[in-house]
Amino acid sequence: MKTIALVAHDGKKQELLQWVQAHADFFVGKQLYATGTTGALLAESLGREVHCLASGPLGGDQQIGALIAEQQVDWLVFFWDPLSSQPHDPDVKALIRLAVVWNIPVACNRATADFIVHSSLLQQDYQRSVPDFSQHQNRFKTAT
Ligand code: PGA
Repeated sequence: MKTIALVAHDGKKQELLQWVQAHADFFVGKQLYATGTTGALLAESLGREVHCLASGPLGGDQQIGALIAEQQVDWLVFFWDPLSSQPHDPDVKALIRLAVVWNIPVACNRATADFIVHSSLLQQDYQRSVPDFSQHQNRFKTAT
């Protein structure tokens, strides 16, 4: 679990910042990616480097999705706000979908994030299985 992507909608940013602060030790030595505004707030509050992508509504969610598809993210922490509608709702869905497609852990609320941070699997160098999509990729290949 070396590379973590973090995203929080506006109504959830404070909660994410508080949660990250409460687990600051966990994040030492980890590479962090985040959507623009979330990342800037995290960098300021943790006093450390965060790779900031575009703001979510401007394509940041899709950039994180692309990193997931390239196997460059080990864990997605995505505090999306169930009580407000988002202009980039299709991107929000797409990001959650890609986390499921590529079988990466995804925490959409604080309780789940707590469970993952305290998981005994973290001590065991857990290797998630990466789905084999070769059948999908080869579905239009003609037999030779
Ligand atoms: P933001 O994007 O961190 O730039 O606010 C988050 C989002 O709304 O997806």
